[in-house]
Amino acid sequence: MIQKLDLRVDPATAAIADKLKKECSRRAGLDIGRIKRVDILRRSIDARQRRVMVNLSLAVHVDEVDEKAVAFEPVEYPDVTGAKEVIVVGAGPAGLYAALELIELGFKPVVLERGKDVDSRRRDMVKINREGIVDPDSNYCFGEGGAGAYSDGKLYTRSKKRGPVDKVLRVFVQHGASHDILVDAHPHIGTDKLPFVIKAMRETIIRSGGEVHFGTRVEELLFSKDKKEVTGVVAADGRQWNGNVILATGHSARDVYHMLVRSGIELQPKGIAVGVRLEHPQHLIDCLQYHSRDGRGKYLPAAEYSMLTRVDDRAVYSFCMCPGGYIIPAASAPGQLVVNGMSPANRGTQWANSGMVVEVLPEDIPDVPDSTENALKMMRFQEEIEKRFFEAADGTQQAPAQRMTDFVNGVASSSLARSSYPPGLLCRRVDELLPEPVSRRLREGFRVFNGKQRGFLTPEATVIGNETRTSSPVRIPRLPESMQHIAFEGLYPCGEGAGYAGGIVSAAIDGILSARAVAQNSAQ
Ligand SMILES: Cc1cc2nc3c(=O)[nH]c(=O)nc-3n(C[C@H](O)[C@H](O)[C@H](O)COP(=O)(O)OP(=O)(O)OC[C@H]3O[C@@H](n4cnc5c(N)ncnc54)[C@H](O)[C@@H]3O)c2cc1C
Repeated sequence: MIQKLDLRVDPATAAIADKLKKECSRRAGLDIGRIKRVDILRRSIDARQRRVMVNLSLAVHVDEVDEKAVAFEPVEYPDVTGAKEVIVVGAGPAGLYAALELIELGFKPVVLERGKDVDSRRRDMVKINREGIVDPDSNYCFGEGGAGAYSDGKLYTRSKKRGPVDKVLRVFVQHGASHDILVDAHPHIGTDKLPFVIKAMRETIIRSGGEVHFGTRVEELLFSKDKKEVTGVVAADGRQWNGNVILATGHSARDVYHMLVRSGIELQPKGIAVGVRLEHPQHLIDCLQYHSRDGRGKYLPAAEYSMLTRVDDRAVYSFCMCPGGYIIPAASAPGQLVVNGMSPANRGTQWANSGMVVEVLPEDIPDVPDSTENALKMMRFQEEIEKRFFEAADGTQQAPAQRMTDFVNGVASSSLARSSYPPGLLCRRVDELLPEPVSRRLREGFRVFNGKQRGFLTPEATVIGNETRTSSPVRIPRLPESMQHIAFEGLYPCGEGAGYAGGIVSAAIDGILSARAVAQNSAQ
């Protein structure tokens, strides 16, 4: 028999199985000998009060273990060899989930990915870190797993209403992610574990009869004679594929946006957020968040934070916070400098970083006279910032940086705190390199955040520039109603690059929904 129990306990009780069992026995009035196992169904940390507590929803197995009551049914993937082919461009979260869903629906996905498989890709990232050389087809953004592969792997999303979040998490677990992601309020996989999960997904696709082609950069769309329908794609080496196209190329594939403009597909400029990565010592964040001079102690995870305010009518907020993580160079082509953050499963480094960004809306950026190019004006704004930082770093992948207090006071730093960023930092006036409205709002935002959390604004923290790739600078409008995921007959723009997702889970959901739209439209 399973007895459900909600408990609020101290971190040690939540972490030590015997203690938790005793607590269950006491609270449920059950003889401890009758409790055969305790499964955690939901876990969240409440650090709002001085005394940090853990909220748990539990399944207590009384008298016998009932595996069936807590297990989930894995998805069955049928053999789709010989089934109707659907082209999926991009093997990021959106593309991979679209491919898996297509298989479930009886279609054969043909995945075309410009980058390398997730293992070979690693060598190119070492080159970026050590030599500052960026391969435009294989980097932290491009390659199997997309931008999600070498990321923090945080899996929480605000888009719960949009689609099957639970399914996304279960499919991750089915492919090797820890069961904890089904339990934790803020689940994450970790950059050291993600590649194994991604490889397992590829194996499922191939085992079921789908195809995955690496080193295959799509350069053109094929159209029907009357130009009313997309009928396939052409790769850089001239190979062609025919069929419906799910375009899941992410927000860094700027060449794809140019190709879409050339092809006459409508694009719209979209609001973005730009700023810096902020890096603190993790111990300091633990002390602040857990209200303790000793930090997080033995049983609490590396602490997170989330900050939000408005300055002069624009949002200023923390984004993609990585406790116990690293800052990494996320440029996707030579001549750019962009940083981002990631962390391993144990979140064990001595640093905490987050994007600290300011909202920038299309009306903040002047229109471009050429109306076809106007759709790309937010992208150009990103490009200009990335180029300015690259030049300020003397054409290297070392990142311009400033102590947080110097940034706020508008003075140069003469030295910097130690950083996790592999290529290294350079003392530069980050406040002057950023566009003035961004810099001004960030400075004010940091003061507000320090008011909320005394000690957050500190010379021990470093602002590192620049963070521009928080979301897509473009939206590809979709046709309304039942054809929702179509932008043009035969073309299904999908995931973050299409402007409909902002993170791993929402991109995966959009992939699933795009695959379902293909199936629905094929049936009509
Ligand atoms: C360092 C880092 C850390 C992150 N951490 C998190 C996190 O913790 N949690 C979270 O939710 N999100 C995180 N993100 C964001 C997240 O990774 C993205 O939101 C997500 O990957 C978007 O998925 P996508 O499939 O839409 O696009 P992408 O992941 O960008 O995938 C697009 C794919 O398309 C391929 N491609 C591009 N152009 C072509 C072409 N012409 N032909 C063929 N293939 C092409 C690319 O190589 C790539 O593999 C992080 C991003 C980065 C860079």
